[in-house]
Amino acid sequence: MEALSRLVGSTWGLTFARARTLYTAVIRPTITHACGIWAGGKKGEGLQERTLRPLITLQNKCLRRITGAYKRTPVAALEKDTNIPPIQLYTRAQAYKYTLNSDQSTAEAAIRQLCEQIGHQNRPSRRRRQQRARPTPQEALAAQAGKARAKEDREENQRQAAGRSEGRTGRRGTNDWLESWHRKLWRERWEKAGRGKTEPTWCTLWETWGKQLFDGLTRPECTIATLLRTEVIGLNAFLVRVGVPNVQPACPCRAARQTPKRVVVSCPNHSQGRPERQLEAGTTDYVELLTTQQGLKAVTKWFLRQDILQQFKWARETALRPAHARTWRELTPLPK
Ligand SMILES: [Zn+2]
Repeated sequence: MEALSRLVGSTWGLTFARARTLYTAVIRPTITHACGIWAGGKKGEGLQERTLRPLITLQNKCLRRITGAYKRTPVAALEKDTNIPPIQLYTRAQAYKYTLNSDQSTAEAAIRQLCEQIGHQNRPSRRRRQQRARPTPQEALAAQAGKARAKEDREENQRQAAGRSEGRTGRRGTNDWLESWHRKLWRERWEKAGRGKTEPTWCTLWETWGKQLFDGLTRPECTIATLLRTEVIGLNAFLVRVGVPNVQPACPCRAARQTPKRVVVSCPNHSQGRPERQLEAGTTDYVELLTTQQGLKAVTKWFLRQDILQQFKWARETALRPAHARTWRELTPLPK
């Protein structure tokens, strides 16, 4: 986390893709170390949110770093935009994966056989045998994972029968079904969080995230994209909504409310560059502008050149300055 804070700010530092990789390849494996073993919970149903709270808080901080979002931004939107699942689901999926893989392993089978032999020799009393009937956390976890898998397989078969499956046919491996299992639960969570909301982030297709939105954007552009998409942004209408004192919701152009849509689409104070932007984006539709890669590229570049948010003053000046041979530049992307 410390590392991420030093390498990314909202208007400087690592691009979206690199900051995200830093989180998923370094930070998350560290904070969820060995979660395959501990994240099953007592009955295999995963850990309570209360128990995971410190990890949830940490992941949320990282999500804001990666996207440049403000603190009030709904986490469900950031999880989806970054394609980083809620940590409760992630750790639970890891626990299922671990138990299913180790359940099949010969070592585990050998240990179980040995245990049964020992049990047999000891000839447990009737009472002890009854106590033994209560499953251990590992057994409960394996049972839960098996149940989840059976349900997921059944649904996949139905999808295949109806010709709606995008995946391969035949029996799927552990990773395949775990992926579709946790994505389905995740999607339900995201849709619930966005119900009744109209911000562009909630109007984005479930399948569109991460690279498809932010690839090719510079750090300040990525931050602008997030602020506009979530509408948690330092414009008057939002500032009034969250109770910032001495702010009026109106736009300086006298429109009743200064909203992202007003600024982007119709505010006369920011008409400069709008026609060019529309050409570049290939659309005049506001939602399309903010939910597609081409639209986001055009609109964030345009926004950065407008004198709108103080936050981007430095980034704007840098963007407007002619490129200099000695200007610090991002390294070329790593090979995939
Ligand atoms: Zn205006």
